[in-house]
Amino acid sequence: MFGKFGRFLRLLGFDTEIADSHWNDSYLLKIALETQRILITRDFQLYQRCNPVSSKNYSKTLPYGVYCDVETVVDFLTCFFKTFDIKPENYLWDAPDSQEMIEVSNKSEDISLNIRIPFQPRCTKCNSSLKSISEQEAKTLVSEGTSRYFHNYWQCSNPNCKKIYWIGRHWMDILRTLKKVAIRFNSPSFSKKNL
Ligand SMILES: [Zn+2]
Repeated sequence: MFGKFGRFLRLLGFDTEIADSHWNDSYLLKIALETQRILITRDFQLYQRCNPVSSKNYSKTLPYGVYCDVETVVDFLTCFFKTFDIKPENYLWDAPDSQEMIEVSNKSEDISLNIRIPFQPRCTKCNSSLKSISEQEAKTLVSEGTSRYFHNYWQCSNPNCKKIYWIGRHWMDILRTLKKVAIRFNSPSFSKKNL
């Protein structure tokens, strides 16, 4: 499940390694330390083998760790944003609602024209950066139905991946999730205990 959360962080532009299920705790700690990554886990015992991110008296032989005991993407992102003191509002963008998007797309109009994503997504599959590609180039790489409706494309910069991305209707789900995170984040009743 944390793989799903990790892919969401990549989408938001965070350089994120997702642990393989066969990695044991010692290997996870070693990789996190060697690559200077912060280990995010819901395994409290594993977390206790890390330096808390707020710690000033840290051990140089341990990576930093964050404990997020969560089940859902909304809870995970709220924990993540709170821990690193990042405002979720900075990740929201103005967009028509889903119904409006569907109606517009049925008219074969440009539905991605007015959407400006305020962050630089990374590839959810391999964590590499994405580069913009022209509509013309994308046309040869996506289905006709996709190229008819969408006009802004990215491609993964990793030559072994090259996954294509575009802003389609699923981005409305992403926006909805981020809006829920912003509400939770700003809720007066929110505390770490809620997670
Ligand atoms: Zn990729």
